[in-house]
Amino acid sequence: MKKIVPKVYLIAETSLVKENLEKMLSDHGGDIAKMWYDSTQAAASSNGEYLIEVAGRMCYESYGVGMNPNVTKIRGTSKEYLENILLKGDGSILEHSTVTFAFLNVSRVFTHELARHRVGTAISQESLRYVRPKEIKLWVPPEMENDKDFVEAVETIENGYKKLEKKYNWDSMDFSLKKILTSALRRILPDGIATNVIWTANHRTIRHVITMRTSPYAEIEIRKVFDEVANKMKVRYPLIYQDFERTELPDGTGSWKPKNIKV
Ligand SMILES: Cc1cc2nc3c(=O)[nH]c(=O)nc-3n(C[C@H](O)[C@H](O)[C@H](O)COP(=O)(O)OP(=O)(O)OC[C@H]3O[C@@H](n4cnc5c(N)ncnc54)[C@H](O)[C@@H]3O)c2cc1C
Repeated sequence: MKKIVPKVYLIAETSLVKENLEKMLSDHGGDIAKMWYDSTQAAASSNGEYLIEVAGRMCYESYGVGMNPNVTKIRGTSKEYLENILLKGDGSILEHSTVTFAFLNVSRVFTHELARHRVGTAISQESLRYVRPKEIKLWVPPEMENDKDFVEAVETIENGYKKLEKKYNWDSMDFSLKKILTSALRRILPDGIATNVIWTANHRTIRHVITMRTSPYAEIEIRKVFDEVANKMKVRYPLIYQDFERTELPDGTGSWKPKNIKV
């Protein structure tokens, strides 16, 4: 058995095609929208936040006073604009921007929990039908760190797995038989075995999952991972996550709560 720790990588995010966006705003809203584009994009903290604001302002034609005769004033800064969106709970515009994470060395306990969040996500997980583990890699929860029986129990499974695996002549098999046997053998592997998953979600979903999975009642592994996700979101997207606050829990992880729950 090899001890590992979960790792979080932010590997992709929404980006703008700026020249097309500029042209669209000019065609749509003339000088008023073009002025908004020039001033706002210079100050924008991220493409993702900027796209969300573009989409939101499209709804009321509120890029500036004069486009929509009903609009007599607009919120000047992106921070004010998004603050108001969060306050009103107009979360649908947050769905325009996504972030992609790679979660490495996470357990199948973690991925079972992650997969329960269905809305606004895409998941690609390492297949244990195709991938035959060379060893059991596992994150040991703090409660078990000093209990050698825990490691021994995992090694007993690992030895049983290897004994079964050795009974077959893998080199002589075609791939479909390898797949069938690999899948049969995985049934004895522990839930804690490390796996890797790519997870894409929009910001409305990420806000929701951070809130639920960093709750003090959530399982420690997913809380650790989403504490890290929240820290990254707060730095990279300060406007979308401006109402989130972290409370340190006794185990060193953080529990994050937004001021605006329903977004
Ligand atoms: C601390 C904790 C303990 C848990 N314990 C258990 C447990 O013991 N057993 C268990 O089975 N699960 C458990 N769960 C999982 C939990 O019940 C949810 O399935 C999971 O958190 C997914 O959240 P969600 O329902 O908000 O779904 P998401 O897919 O994240 O949906 C986001 C939101 O979209 C809306 N939505 C989604 N789907 C629908 C729909 N079909 N119809 C209408 N609105 C929808 C809801 O407003 C929902 O909150 C636990 C979760 C936590 C955080």
